[in-house]
Amino acid sequence: MADCVFCLIRDGEIPSERVYEDDDVLAFKDVNPQAPVHVLVIPKKHIASLNEIQVDDGELHTQLLLATKAIAAQLNMAEDGYRVVVNTGDYGGQTVDHLHFHLLGGRSLTWPPG
Ligand code: 5GP
Ligand code: ZN
Repeated sequence: MADCVFCLIRDGEIPSERVYEDDDVLAFKDVNPQAPVHVLVIPKKHIASLNEIQVDDGELHTQLLLATKAIAAQLNMAEDGYRVVVNTGDYGGQTVDHLHFHLLGGRSLTWPPG
Protein backbone atom coordinates (compact mmCIF):
# COMPACT_ATOMS: atom_id res chain seq x y z
CA MET A 1 0.00 0.00 0.00
CA ALA A 2 1.46 3.31 -1.12
CA ASP A 3 0.91 5.22 2.11
CA CYS A 4 1.89 2.40 4.48
CA VAL A 5 4.97 3.22 6.55
CA PHE A 6 6.15 -0.38 6.68
CA CYS A 7 5.66 -0.88 2.93
CA LEU A 8 7.81 2.25 2.44
CA ILE A 9 10.44 0.78 4.78
CA ARG A 10 10.28 -2.53 2.85
CA ASP A 11 10.83 -0.60 -0.40
CA GLY A 12 13.74 1.37 1.07
CA GLU A 13 11.89 4.67 0.72
CA ILE A 14 12.08 5.21 4.48
CA PRO A 15 15.45 4.28 6.00
CA SER A 16 15.59 1.62 8.68
CA GLU A 17 18.16 -0.44 10.51
CA ARG A 18 17.57 -3.90 9.09
CA VAL A 19 18.52 -6.93 11.15
CA TYR A 20 17.06 -9.71 8.98
CA GLU A 21 15.69 -10.16 5.48
CA ASP A 22 14.61 -13.02 3.25
CA ASP A 23 12.26 -13.26 0.27
CA ASP A 24 9.13 -12.94 2.37
CA VAL A 25 10.08 -11.47 5.75
CA LEU A 26 11.86 -8.28 6.85
CA ALA A 27 12.94 -7.22 10.34
CA PHE A 28 14.25 -3.83 11.44
CA LYS A 29 14.83 -1.94 14.68
CA ASP A 30 11.88 -0.04 16.12
CA VAL A 31 12.49 3.72 15.88
CA ASN A 32 11.14 4.15 19.45
CA PRO A 33 12.54 1.15 21.34
CA GLN A 34 10.77 -0.01 24.51
CA ALA A 35 13.56 -2.40 25.54
CA PRO A 36 17.30 -2.76 24.83
CA VAL A 37 16.32 -4.98 21.90
CA HIS A 38 13.14 -3.94 20.06
CA VAL A 39 12.78 -5.30 16.55
CA LEU A 40 9.74 -5.33 14.26
CA VAL A 41 9.26 -8.45 12.14
CA ILE A 42 6.95 -7.98 9.15
CA PRO A 43 5.73 -9.93 6.15
CA LYS A 44 6.89 -8.16 2.98
CA LYS A 45 3.37 -8.66 1.68
CA HIS A 46 1.02 -5.99 3.01
CA ILE A 47 -1.36 -7.63 5.48
CA ALA A 48 -3.19 -5.03 7.59
CA SER A 49 -3.34 -6.92 10.88
CA LEU A 50 -3.72 -10.29 12.53
CA ASN A 51 -7.42 -9.97 11.69
CA GLU A 52 -6.60 -10.10 7.99
CA ILE A 53 -4.33 -13.14 7.83
CA GLN A 54 -5.75 -15.95 5.72
CA VAL A 55 -5.37 -19.71 5.69
CA ASP A 56 -3.87 -19.29 2.19
CA ASP A 57 -0.98 -17.41 3.79
CA GLY A 58 -0.18 -20.41 6.01
CA GLU A 59 3.39 -20.75 4.77
CA LEU A 60 3.99 -17.08 5.52
CA HIS A 61 2.79 -17.42 9.11
CA THR A 62 5.27 -20.20 9.67
CA GLN A 63 8.05 -18.16 8.06
CA LEU A 64 7.24 -15.19 10.32
CA LEU A 65 7.44 -17.31 13.44
CA LEU A 66 10.61 -19.10 12.39
CA ALA A 67 12.26 -15.82 11.35
CA THR A 68 11.33 -14.30 14.73
CA LYS A 69 12.88 -17.26 16.51
CA ALA A 70 16.02 -17.01 14.36
CA ILE A 71 16.36 -13.26 14.97
CA ALA A 72 15.98 -13.78 18.73
CA ALA A 73 18.84 -16.28 18.57
CA GLN A 74 20.90 -13.99 16.28
CA LEU A 75 20.50 -11.19 18.85
CA ASN A 76 21.54 -13.54 21.68
CA MET A 77 18.15 -13.62 23.41
CA ALA A 78 17.31 -17.31 23.08
CA GLU A 79 18.74 -18.31 26.43
CA ASP A 80 17.57 -15.40 28.60
CA GLY A 81 14.20 -15.12 26.88
CA TYR A 82 12.23 -12.45 25.10
CA ARG A 83 8.68 -11.40 24.26
CA VAL A 84 6.74 -11.35 20.99
CA VAL A 85 3.75 -8.99 20.82
CA VAL A 86 1.20 -8.45 18.05
CA ASN A 87 -0.86 -5.35 18.85
CA THR A 88 -4.15 -5.59 16.95
CA GLY A 89 -6.79 -2.92 16.42
CA ASP A 90 -7.70 0.01 18.65
CA TYR A 91 -7.84 -1.83 21.97
CA GLY A 92 -4.64 -3.65 21.11
CA GLY A 93 -2.86 -0.34 20.56
CA GLN A 94 -2.01 -0.96 16.91
CA THR A 95 -0.76 2.24 15.26
CA VAL A 96 0.67 0.93 11.98
CA ASP A 97 -1.76 -1.06 9.85
CA HIS A 98 0.77 -3.54 8.47
CA LEU A 99 1.06 -6.79 10.43
CA HIS A 100 4.14 -6.77 12.64
CA PHE A 101 5.58 -8.78 15.49
CA HIS A 102 7.31 -6.74 18.18
CA LEU A 103 10.35 -8.73 19.35
CA LEU A 104 11.42 -7.36 22.73
CA GLY A 105 14.24 -8.37 25.00
CA GLY A 106 17.60 -7.57 26.49
CA ARG A 107 16.12 -7.09 29.97
CA SER A 108 13.58 -8.74 32.23
CA LEU A 109 10.13 -7.63 31.08
CA THR A 110 7.21 -6.98 33.41
CA TRP A 111 3.72 -8.47 33.17
CA PRO A 112 0.88 -7.61 32.78
CA PRO A 113 1.16 -4.89 30.11
CA GLY A 114 -0.75 -1.65 30.69
P1 5GP B 1 2.10 -0.70 16.92
O1 5GP B 1 1.80 0.49 17.78
O2 5GP B 1 1.32 -0.64 15.61
O3 5GP B 1 1.97 -2.02 17.58
O4 5GP B 1 3.64 -0.61 16.55
C1 5GP B 1 4.15 0.24 15.58
C2 5GP B 1 5.60 0.43 15.89
O5 5GP B 1 6.21 0.97 14.75
C3 5GP B 1 5.87 1.40 17.04
O6 5GP B 1 6.59 0.73 18.07
C4 5GP B 1 6.69 2.51 16.40
O7 5GP B 1 7.73 2.99 17.24
C5 5GP B 1 7.22 1.86 15.15
N1 5GP B 1 7.43 2.77 14.04
C6 5GP B 1 6.55 3.67 13.57
N2 5GP B 1 7.07 4.33 12.52
C7 5GP B 1 8.31 3.81 12.33
C8 5GP B 1 9.36 4.10 11.39
O8 5GP B 1 9.24 4.94 10.51
N3 5GP B 1 10.50 3.37 11.51
C9 5GP B 1 10.66 2.40 12.47
N4 5GP B 1 11.83 1.75 12.49
N5 5GP B 1 9.70 2.11 13.36
C10 5GP B 1 8.53 2.81 13.30
ZN1 ZN C 1 2.16 -2.13 4.31
